[in-house]
Amino acid sequence: MKEMVREVAAYLGLGSSLGDRLLNLQTALQRLTKTGDITIEEVSPVYESPHLGREPEDAERYPPHLNAVVRIRTYLSPVVLLERIQRVEAEGGRERNISWGPRTIDIDILLYANERIKTELLEVPHPEMSKRAFVVIPLWDIAADLILPDGRELGQLVASECIQRQPLRRYAQTLVGWQGA
Ligand code: ADP
Ligand code: MG
Repeated sequence: MKEMVREVAAYLGLGSSLGDRLLNLQTALQRLTKTGDITIEEVSPVYESPHLGREPEDAERYPPHLNAVVRIRTYLSPVVLLERIQRVEAEGGRERNISWGPRTIDIDILLYANERIKTELLEVPHPEMSKRAFVVIPLWDIAADLILPDGRELGQLVASECIQRQPLRRYAQTLVGWQGA
């Protein structure tokens, strides 16, 4: 039987901590939309936060990150979407030499429709997303009434102590310049 193809909404988290960080985020968005099968519907403000590494000292050792969240619409399956974002990371000079290390561009699939996926390659919702202020806060900016596939309301996460205590500052109101691909 022919596989049914449907357009879904998904949320991507973008981050950059090396080079021209704002430009890296903008360029990644341009590259994501280049082939026409991903539409960017909404882009959050940009936030800056200290590096979150495996060790507490990493916050001082590595430069701070800029992060934003976008809502896309796409016909791509989750795995094909993952391949696409990994290609865009490679084009952005992403090197995977240090786990949880600094990076020119990181793109994560936060949510894909209301699906829960757990394979070796891909876990959705992204397993760390609800613990990270640099994901939860920009997500809330563009999807305040979101409910996660496990039934939790995003607003509850935003209000949680775990999110509220993390240092995060708004760096730019909008991520301009990405539409001109
Ligand atoms: P991180 O984002 O945790 O710093 P990477 O970007 O290097 O690490 O990703 C490591 C691996 O995580 C990828 O090769 C990918 O297969 C896997 N992965 C699992 N779930 C996701 C997801 N939701 N979004 C992006 N990558 C994911
Ligand atoms: Mg990643």
